[in-house]
Amino acid sequence: MKPTILLDGVSKSFGAIRAVRNVSLALAPGEIVALVGHNGAGKTTLIKLMLGLIRPTEGVVRVLGGDPSTDAEVRAAFGYLPENVAFNPALTGRETLHFYSALKRAGREQVEGLLERVGLAEAAGRRVRTYSKGMRQRLGLAQALLGRPRVLLLDEPTTGLDPALRRDFYRFLEQLRDDGATILLSSHALSELEGRADHVIIMGRGEKVADGTLDELRRLARLPTRIRIRL
Ligand code: ATP
Repeated sequence: MKPTILLDGVSKSFGAIRAVRNVSLALAPGEIVALVGHNGAGKTTLIKLMLGLIRPTEGVVRVLGGDPSTDAEVRAAFGYLPENVAFNPALTGRETLHFYSALKRAGREQVEGLLERVGLAEAAGRRVRTYSKGMRQRLGLAQALLGRPRVLLLDEPTTGLDPALRRDFYRFLEQLRDDGATILLSSHALSELEGRADHVIIMGRGEKVADGTLDELRRLARLPTRIRIRL
């Protein structure tokens, strides 16, 4: 199957800092892919490159066959949940989604269905300042889903969620994946991806150090020692 996202020999430097070094990867439609690595490993930079927010210093980024940094049609296919997304605490959940649907020209008619889908229908009339971390994260996901994206990029979406909320969150991603979306999420923790991610990419100091299913990664004789993540 044609990959949704293709990176070929991509590097990104910020001055003297080489945030991403010679990364090649392919993400297929209908996959949940996890990007794993410690702080500063280059996960957010890779996501920004895929979004076309920044351009590679070297190499090629292709999303749905186009260049996300110049092709508005490609960018319109994205849903993006940034790390630590902050909402206006004075707006209600429903008002927040109305605001984002206007920004994305997505049409308001999706809002009620999305609130229902992320389990916020009852709380939709309450202000965001009264929401728990889990509720804010689900509101973030609803925001990312406005416009029915084909590609979802989620930067550390489960940070701060308790195990039950994580379970719900992954179940929800599986439904989206089964509807044909390509989902990339970044995470610090390999442990929570068991049985959840179809494909795992491990980053260390800007480089891709491993790429495969969790089972394949376990079968590798050993992972490079500089990335000590328990499998
Ligand atoms: P975290 O888990 O902390 O989000 P990360 O894996 O997402 O980390 P990145 O945010 O991609 O890592 O950062 C990779 C490296 O690039 C870090 O050394 C970071 O300081 C640097 N970096 C990222 N963005 C910039 C920028 N705009 N200007 C300068 N340096 C940057």
